[in-house]
Amino acid sequence: MEKDFDVVIIGAGMSGLAAGIRLAMFDQKVCILESHSIPGGLNSYYQRGKRKFDVGLHAMTNWTPKGTKGKPLSKIMKQLRIPYDEFQLVPQKQSSIRFPNHKLTFTNNIQDLLDEVQCHFPNEIDGLINLITYIEGYNDTDLTSIYSSAKDVVSTFIKDKILLNMIFCPLMIYGSAWEHDMDFSQFAIMFKSIFLEGFSRPTGGVRTIIDLLSKKLKQQGLLVQYKSQVQQLHKVDNKISAITLKNGDRIRCRKILSSAGYRETLNLFEEKLKEDKKVIIGKMSFTESILILDKKPCEYGIEDTIIFTNDSHEYNYRNPNTLFDTTSSVLCFPNNFIKDEEDEGIFRATMMADYDCWNKLEKDQYKQEKLNVLESSKALFLKHSGSEIKDLLFSDVFTPTTVKKYTKHENGCVYGSPTKTRDGTTSVEGLYLMGTDQGFLGIIGAMLSGISMANYHCLRN
Ligand SMILES: Cc1cc2nc3c(=O)[nH]c(=O)nc-3n(C[C@H](O)[C@H](O)[C@H](O)COP(=O)(O)OP(=O)(O)OC[C@H]3O[C@@H](n4cnc5c(N)ncnc54)[C@H](O)[C@@H]3O)c2cc1C
Repeated sequence: MEKDFDVVIIGAGMSGLAAGIRLAMFDQKVCILESHSIPGGLNSYYQRGKRKFDVGLHAMTNWTPKGTKGKPLSKIMKQLRIPYDEFQLVPQKQSSIRFPNHKLTFTNNIQDLLDEVQCHFPNEIDGLINLITYIEGYNDTDLTSIYSSAKDVVSTFIKDKILLNMIFCPLMIYGSAWEHDMDFSQFAIMFKSIFLEGFSRPTGGVRTIIDLLSKKLKQQGLLVQYKSQVQQLHKVDNKISAITLKNGDRIRCRKILSSAGYRETLNLFEEKLKEDKKVIIGKMSFTESILILDKKPCEYGIEDTIIFTNDSHEYNYRNPNTLFDTTSSVLCFPNNFIKDEEDEGIFRATMMADYDCWNKLEKDQYKQEKLNVLESSKALFLKHSGSEIKDLLFSDVFTPTTVKKYTKHENGCVYGSPTKTRDGTTSVEGLYLMGTDQGFLGIIGAMLSGISMANYHCLRN
């Protein structure tokens, strides 16, 4: 491998791949280092027998129709020069948020949510319209914004506590590193991406996106260096100078874009940095069950693509300090989008979970607890579809320790640290963060982050 680069990218997840394409387009001497043997990071794929699985994909957020301009999806396509049709996006049918005695169904057309609120919470409709107007005018890409409580801001528009909790439910579980509340800027990003834009799925799942990004990288003459774990970062006079790989190779570079996480990246320096103390380790992790069913979701009478469930009027988004918590969940049917090409039914269930509880288990206990997650997932299916799963063709369960193993994120935290660095800078010159801990997450957010951090820190001037 060459030993001297303008930019080293740590990680071949969505942000690293997108940043690599962007930099290679402008003739930067760049190298992408990934500790695993395949790309995708948190949102990768695997195969069991003849079946292909996505590790994470429920849906892509930020769906907009072909021809829409100035939105995250169109910005990504423009910056990476990938035509809309190549993403092969199939929009969702509908999704719902289910609390005791209350259900809100929404689609990729915000009018459907407004109609639901008009029907079930008529006193709140003006507040919701005003909130939407406020969010539409809010600059969520401002790199200088600092934390403000989303609950404080949103409760000035929405007075009904149940509706408030119902609105927060999908936005938090799909993107909050904070427990109980979230940064308003993150709330605005999530609100736009889920309610104002919406869900879709690429035909072929996450492979379609990863293959597109990998093909584009190859066209630019850049290949990811797999099985290349960055072991140590080096600086001279507080400026990034080089990295050392686990195999002992040393690579010189002027800049680093890291998607490894804020604390995880700082930990790669030999000596502790002062900045280290201010970076809180995230606590939010999840279990994820994948079940292959004998029948398609529509044959079970399921109309929704995604169901967000909660068993009380208050939505308690936090680390449950137990192995897993069934009181709220995300139930996703990845082949219940408008067009479906699979023969079998796919069902995924996500529940909040605690890393430490899983990490303590002996091997046999761990296996048993995974079975318990599976049984709870089946029970949630029964509760929300009214049908029992008769013939389970295959199942798999991931836990917070799986997330840690494959991404090295401390605590197996999926949405990173609550301490974000919105402009990507760190206290070390030439070291920038992108992806989850820069504050943009999900597949679309991560790609956008990779592009913007590459543009901002490496391609200006
Ligand atoms: C179960 C689950 C379901 C999800 N579902 C969805 C969904 O439906 N829709 C959606 O939009 N988003 C979803 N997400 C979130 C989404 O996957 C992430 O937000 C996004 O993929 C993050 O991308 P990233 O590039 O920031 O980081 P990552 O994907 O975490 O990539 C970081 C990469 O860096 C590598 N790395 C780390 N340390 C080192 C090192 N020292 N040396 C070399 N390489 C290193 C890791 O191996 C990894 O590949 C889901 C996540 C999970 C876990």
